[in-house]
Amino acid sequence: MSASAQAHPVVVLAAAAHPDDIEFMMAGTLLRLKDAGAEIHMWNLANGHCGTARHAREEIIRLRAGEVAASAKLAGAISHPPLFDDLAIFYDQPSLARVGAVVRAIRPAIILTQAPQDYMEDHQNTCRLIVTAAFARGMANFTTEPPQPAWDAPLALYHAMPHGLRDGLGRMLEPDLIVDTAPVLARQRAMLACHRSQKEWLDVSQGVGAYLNEMERMRIDVGRMSRRFTHAEGWRRHNMLGFGPDAFNPLQELLKGAAHVTTAE
Ligand SMILES: [Zn+2]
Repeated sequence: MSASAQAHPVVVLAAAAHPDDIEFMMAGTLLRLKDAGAEIHMWNLANGHCGTARHAREEIIRLRAGEVAASAKLAGAISHPPLFDDLAIFYDQPSLARVGAVVRAIRPAIILTQAPQDYMEDHQNTCRLIVTAAFARGMANFTTEPPQPAWDAPLALYHAMPHGLRDGLGRMLEPDLIVDTAPVLARQRAMLACHRSQKEWLDVSQGVGAYLNEMERMRIDVGRMSRRFTHAEGWRRHNMLGFGPDAFNPLQELLKGAAHVTTAE
């Protein structure tokens, strides 16, 4: 079976907490999957309303929604609206029901999401909500809000590296899969540059270019870990128990030599 068959493209969902988290940690891989024939979806669970020192709540939500739409358009992605405020992403039943509805509606075969260990609770809670929503995709008695029919197909979940490649206690984490993102670096920078409200904020406080350079620096760090790519993104695949057969690894199948396994399975 060819994973890149055009008639039934592989559906990929990139799900992260805040507007620009996908661009920072996942967009290179997402673009490579798009180029390999996948249908790509982008979803930040929160609206980014705390990401400002100068705009009022409704104004920044509107601004950031526009930035998200511009970035998704550049990527050729389908964008999904946020459900929560920043710092209000909680692992609870009502949130699970809402997140579960979106996962069921999209029907992804690949989910890219945040690391289980990260410096920020919104990131970790997003990861937990997404993992459980995906796990419950086929459970008929798990009711989503709004209701969406259950389905049962293999789904592989990959965790991005945390920001700075360190967990919440500052310990370095090692990826088990590294994707060559050098060919899409310019597009990834263009996507991140769409987040103008964030770029201006960081460039003023940390110097011109700081925002885009920070993203690129992490690509170079992971590229060095790979010993073969100049710019790369690292991933850790979630345990397949409850998600599909262990051999199901569509990210690697689609990207072939551009995805390098760093540890023996
Ligand atoms: Zn974030």
